[in-house]
Amino acid sequence: MAKGDTTKCLVIGAGPVGALAALYAARRGWNVEVYELRGDLRDDSTTPLNFTKSINLALSERGINAMRHSGSDQLLETVLSQTIPMYGRMIHGKASSRLTEESQQYDVHGRYIRAVDRAELNKLLLDELENLPNVKLCFNHKLTGADVRKRKAWFEQHVSRTQTADGAQADQDQNSSRSKEIEVDFDVILGCDGAHSNVRHHMMKSMRMNYEQSYIDTLWCEFTIPPASSATKATPSTRDGFATSPNHLHIWPQSDKMFIAIPSTDKSFTCTLFAPSADITSLEKYPDGFLPFFEANFPGAADLVGRAELRKQFAENPHLPLISIKCSPHHYGSSGVILGDAAHAMVPFYGQGMNAGLEDVRVLFEHLDAHPPNIQGRTKALEAYTTERVPDAHTINDLALANYWEMHAGVNSPLYLLRKKIEEF
Ligand code: FAD
Repeated sequence: MAKGDTTKCLVIGAGPVGALAALYAARRGWNVEVYELRGDLRDDSTTPLNFTKSINLALSERGINAMRHSGSDQLLETVLSQTIPMYGRMIHGKASSRLTEESQQYDVHGRYIRAVDRAELNKLLLDELENLPNVKLCFNHKLTGADVRKRKAWFEQHVSRTQTADGAQADQDQNSSRSKEIEVDFDVILGCDGAHSNVRHHMMKSMRMNYEQSYIDTLWCEFTIPPASSATKATPSTRDGFATSPNHLHIWPQSDKMFIAIPSTDKSFTCTLFAPSADITSLEKYPDGFLPFFEANFPGAADLVGRAELRKQFAENPHLPLISIKCSPHHYGSSGVILGDAAHAMVPFYGQGMNAGLEDVRVLFEHLDAHPPNIQGRTKALEAYTTERVPDAHTINDLALANYWEMHAGVNSPLYLLRKKIEEF
């Protein structure tokens, strides 16, 4: 902790990256204010941005190491106790009329990645923050403007007037029915507000930031495989109440589409369908075609989800795009810096978007620790952060796209199978 450093730090966005960044900033002794557009995730009524109730992510050493250095003794242990090891991919297919499963280990030494519930991870980070005296959590606050030269930010605070038990009108920070604008000063603002970052947008106005964004021609939709029960047809690999092997990332690959499933601690699987936007648009128009499309492409998966549920979930869950963003630099002077998806949103096929965002936090604070706790020191630290992070972020972005091709076609390609045979030999 930098002694006597009274820096006022605004963290915008209380997603996994913002929450971890706030934790690091608070441990440094800074006065931290976290502003989050949405309500508190720990209230049941709040749904995380862009997701349905929850989504499972692959947590890797990159993200784990960032939490290890957060200064909280219990945090990592608690997070890891709520994860499930995934030792490899399970490739599902069909040979003649028989369903097939092929386990492909991630690592010859048995190392693994972990399945984690994004919302649970986020809640644990918020719990940690709540206990710190120098952190103020402000939910239902939308950043609408920021000036990194003048060090001022503007927020729309959403307030609703609802009836209390005794019939009086009371203000509540949920379900906005009116809003008020507030202005807040800062020394440094950390933009952790996701792919469509407002901090990035306003920071750009004060600097020459190179910026590149693209959408891939694929949409995604979330599904759930329930725990094994008499209602679902169990496969031969049914284990411990799960409908299929819990220690794999399951993939049903096709040349231009795929279905994946990641285990959850409640013995369900969170699944994602990735398919060309033309396919999804046509299925939205002709929903009767969805089941035949699904069964033809992902053999065996309909048995796990349940046919009625498949149809329902496709109809009810959003069909969302995938964006890829590269920009540089990631900072402005001593007063503005972007982290996580705000700096480098990537397609999810390398399972590293959140992990890389958590790593940004560790790297940023390592540079801050290596410099004096004053404006000059902070300027140098932010420069060093950009210098280290931009090439890494661009590379991982490219790898994520490359893994898209690997995951949905490569795992069945003759080249991959040959390589595997050679390794086995
Ligand atoms: P976000 O999670 O987007 O959080 C940003 C926060 O900022 C939100 O809470 C939002 O409400 C808030 N906010 C936005 N605008 C404002 C504003 N104006 N004012 C105040 N607050 C604001 N990553 C992995 O590491 N492993 C995986 O396996 C993986 N799988 C994925 C699967 C899918 C289908 C998708 C879409 C993504 C996946 N990712 C994965 C990527 C991962 O979800 C993101 O990288 C991660 O959520 C980014 O975290 P973040 O905190 O930077 O941004």
